[in-house]
Amino acid sequence: MPFVPAVVQPPVLSDRPLWFVVQASGIVVRSDESGVTLPGAAELTQWGLDPHQAHYLGRIDERDCFAIDSSDVQPPAPWTVEGLRTLHERLDEQVFTVAGRALQIVYFASVHRFCGRCGTATLMDEKERAVRCPNCGLTAYPRISPAIIVLIRRGDEALLAHSARIPAAFYSTLAGFSEVGESLEETLRREVKEEVGVDVTNIRYFGSQPWPFPHSLMVGFVADHAGGEIVVDGEEITDARWFRADALPLVPPRLSIARKLIDAWVREITKGTT
Ligand SMILES: [Zn+2]
Repeated sequence: MPFVPAVVQPPVLSDRPLWFVVQASGIVVRSDESGVTLPGAAELTQWGLDPHQAHYLGRIDERDCFAIDSSDVQPPAPWTVEGLRTLHERLDEQVFTVAGRALQIVYFASVHRFCGRCGTATLMDEKERAVRCPNCGLTAYPRISPAIIVLIRRGDEALLAHSARIPAAFYSTLAGFSEVGESLEETLRREVKEEVGVDVTNIRYFGSQPWPFPHSLMVGFVADHAGGEIVVDGEEITDARWFRADALPLVPPRLSIARKLIDAWVREITKGTT
């Protein structure tokens, strides 16, 4: 069953709700050989968290999902706060996506406690995902920052780059945030030119993925090399090269759209040669 999002909590809850207890960019879990477990209502009470302060998220497989801010509590062992990035490999894809949603909603609530216009304490809207100012009426919605991510092709090669922002040694597709007033295609051409100095053409949409660090929406594309030699900017990108599908470097972990772009390209290239 797919995740069904909702803002308003149903009058009757499912038996075993899923609690996404959020702290900074991670969630509270118990992790062992059998997998990753989320806390239950009993743990929440023990830790002094008030379930009434939770944000309703919707349902997965008939189980209600909640997000709650736990920035003031230190969960006792064996419970730990694990970053969503490190949980990436061990969570079911659907649960990972809902965990990302939980992180973004808790983050949104934490940075919108006061009205940006008049400074009055805001109230959570009961019907939609928004906060309202009871004084001046300003409504604020969770921020979503669109970013492009692109696999650039040249013949049977693809351009992958090593980013200074990522400590791991892997090479990935290029990515960058949209600026005010730009179309995604303009963002793509600008980012590619800035980061690796090449021009691209034939931009086609691949797919998208919410990326809750803290509130990106990655919009994936494939594009063809139109000209220019690689010249890395040396700041965001420290190395970039053309790679063949049969000689790939270390690539990003599964579930990321970067990896999906790379895997789809490898599948296509491999199919063409066998
Ligand atoms: Zn206001």
